[in-house]
Amino acid sequence: MKIHDLLIVGAGLAGMRAALAAPAQLDVALISKVHPVRSHSVAAQGGINAALGESDSWEAHAFDTTKGGQYLGDQDAIEAMCREAPDDILELERMGVIFSRDERGRIAQRPFGGAGFPRACYAADRTGHAILHTMYEQLMKRGCHVYEEWYVMSLIMEEGICRGVIAWDIVHGGLHAIGAKAVVLATGGSGRAFLTSTNAVINTGDGMALAYRVGAPLEDMEFVQFHPTTLKDTGILITEGARGEGAYLLNTLGERFMKKYAPEQMELATRSTVSLAIGQEILEGRGVDGCVLLDLRHLGRQRILERLPQIRQLSVEFAGVDPVESPIPIRPGAHYQMGGVKTTIWGETPVPGLYAAGECACVSVHGANRLGGNSLLETIVFGRRAGQRASDYSATVQPRALSDAAFRREEAHLRQLMDNDGPERAWQVRDDLGKIMSLNLGIFRTQQSMTDALKEIRTLRLRGESVRLQDKGKIFNTDLIQAFELNCLVEIAETIVAGALAREESRGAHYRSDFPKRDDGKWLKHTRATKTPDGPQLSYAPVTITKFPPK
Ligand SMILES: Cc1cc2nc3c(=O)[nH]c(=O)nc-3n(C[C@H](O)[C@H](O)[C@H](O)COP(=O)(O)OP(=O)(O)OC[C@H]3O[C@@H](n4cnc5c(N)ncnc54)[C@H](O)[C@@H]3O)c2cc1C
Repeated sequence: MKIHDLLIVGAGLAGMRAALAAPAQLDVALISKVHPVRSHSVAAQGGINAALGESDSWEAHAFDTTKGGQYLGDQDAIEAMCREAPDDILELERMGVIFSRDERGRIAQRPFGGAGFPRACYAADRTGHAILHTMYEQLMKRGCHVYEEWYVMSLIMEEGICRGVIAWDIVHGGLHAIGAKAVVLATGGSGRAFLTSTNAVINTGDGMALAYRVGAPLEDMEFVQFHPTTLKDTGILITEGARGEGAYLLNTLGERFMKKYAPEQMELATRSTVSLAIGQEILEGRGVDGCVLLDLRHLGRQRILERLPQIRQLSVEFAGVDPVESPIPIRPGAHYQMGGVKTTIWGETPVPGLYAAGECACVSVHGANRLGGNSLLETIVFGRRAGQRASDYSATVQPRALSDAAFRREEAHLRQLMDNDGPERAWQVRDDLGKIMSLNLGIFRTQQSMTDALKEIRTLRLRGESVRLQDKGKIFNTDLIQAFELNCLVEIAETIVAGALAREESRGAHYRSDFPKRDDGKWLKHTRATKTPDGPQLSYAPVTITKFPPK
């Protein structure tokens, strides 16, 4: 069996940055269920934050991040991220990322919600694309091995230590054990637990489920961000950069309704505030066909074409609306998982040999609500840190032969899946899950809605385990992959609901109509979910507070 020094699961920005952080002499491999540049990071539009401006500072960035996250973020982690951001951005530039420029030729920065300063560096509205492709070129130059279109089904654990993965080769078919001295999970988000989401269909929370199944706790899973502006019907993201460039939000009366909810920040209030405001307008009958309107017309054709070309194209192609001429119908949609595998600021999980970074991890820097532009930054800073720490650790591990127990277990699992004769296909159960989550765990949550959801999810777990595969073949069997993904989604959804049901307060993205106030006395603490045979067991941990006492 092949044993790598470092095996990174996921080839989005966090995974690639982790790989590039490893010393050149290490044997580093990446494994990804899609071609690396199809990872969801490629879709990031608006920007990546760093305090580069002359009158900006990392402390101001750290304060905005802490406040935006409603004081639930760990301030030691936030400090590390904001302090290291400027150097990391310059490093990206040196790798070859083509950032947009201001009139003086410096990296241009646009304002984003909840930020006291224009702090988001961008490459037009294709920022993720620019960074991901550049890093991929760097990895190719290094000769990094990529298991392309391989699906990781489980982690190999021996004596409580993570020693590699069991993976399915999607293209050729076939199960493989891949050994590693250290494994970094960089598998991205879980937005597809919801029916309408900005996320790629591959964002199914696999890495979170892999870690959870071997005993690593998931933190703050109830905090799911709903992006205020996703396109009607499809849920495709319309970047916050549009509002950063000056777009307005209008209700059916033509009012800029944000003046009622956030008179100072208006459209650039934090995402949770703007999403709640939109939800309220729609609920009270001032929506337009289940949406509100995002108006860019006053920006003028030239600016839209120069700064937001992709937004224009998406609106024309998917909503039949040209933003140069008409406002775009938008509504909030599931966008980002603030929670994830609990890690230290070096990406370490409690499981020896196992690290995590990027959206699948919870360091935690976003607290109850992530600021736009901070997620790409998290992938870069903590991807690098996890890559460095995992490399150091791998140098201390002696290679050794692994038993084939994990392989045999997955082989049996695979056989059982292929033989299943249940009445349903995976997509049917996945659709039901999405509907239940969108209906009951959206921007407004109540005890009743979540209790109903939890009950239904428990039956979905059983349905998910017995889905029938129509394709019994080995080559590019997407039916099989969907069955694996479904079980991850159901498991992750259960932790979201359990955490949300227990948290009797409203904070950031978690809004309970029955407990509308933030309650620092009882709830200024992290939720941790640990897997048991009966479902997630919750415990709580203190928040690290350094410079900014909660206000
Ligand atoms: C439409 C959109 C726009 C966004 N815009 C911005 C923005 O402008 N600014 C910002 O800061 N944030 C933005 N975000 C959020 C940000 O893009 C993501 O949080 C971030 O890119 C996640 O990166 P990642 O490396 O953690 O994961 P991803 O880029 O999602 O990569 C996950 C990787 O894991 C692999 N993988 C997953 N499961 C398995 C498995 N079982 N086996 C093998 N491989 C697996 C996938 O193949 C993939 O390579 C946006 C998000 C979306 C959806």
